[in-house]
Amino acid sequence: MLNIVLFGPPGAGKGTQSESLIEKYGLIHLSTGDIFRANIKGETDLGLLAKSYMDKGHLVPDSLTIDILRAEVLKANSSKGYIFDGFPRTTAQAEALDNFLKSINTSITLMLALEVEENELKNRLLKRAAISGRSDDADPAIIENRIAVYNKETAPVKDFYENQGKLITISGIGSIDEITNRLFHAVDTRNA
Ligand code: ADP
Repeated sequence: MLNIVLFGPPGAGKGTQSESLIEKYGLIHLSTGDIFRANIKGETDLGLLAKSYMDKGHLVPDSLTIDILRAEVLKANSSKGYIFDGFPRTTAQAEALDNFLKSINTSITLMLALEVEENELKNRLLKRAAISGRSDDADPAIIENRIAVYNKETAPVKDFYENQGKLITISGIGSIDEITNRLFHAVDTRNA
């Protein structure tokens, strides 16, 4: 199996690049952000709870996020592998993911970390707000908060995979196709 963690700050291009990776490698896409947004739309209890954190730019609590993610992996039941987008976002989530994948006899193959500098991220998110209608993209103060949470809680997840020799960093600056090709090259080199 090929299990990829696609990593990067908010606005780095994870969602966009996931689509190409899924298609090329036949992976199942699991985005915790998408799962939460679907629940908000469907007005479920989970959605209501998640929204109260997301609207402030805070993280949804680990225990809830981990439970949801586990259930989605089991539901999808892929034989080729998964691409994890927006998860794990804390070291506790990374540890829980390792333990869970072990229990189903698989593991993370590699982390692809997209790197984009902060001013570019802010510009991209504000532009996206006009199209996505996402309330967490529209407000510069919430964007600041999400980037601060990323730097404090999420960035250390990179060290977690680096310590396992699984981290590959990729520049997230350039055209969408250029970045896709960098990602494909990294996966093919690692998987050869
Ligand atoms: P982005 O990468 O643009 O911030 P996401 O769609 O990945 O967008 O996430 C949107 C919001 O959903 C986050 O700001 C956070 O509140 C919540 N969220 C998504 N994934 C997680 C996670 N793994 N752990 C905790 N909260 C999460």
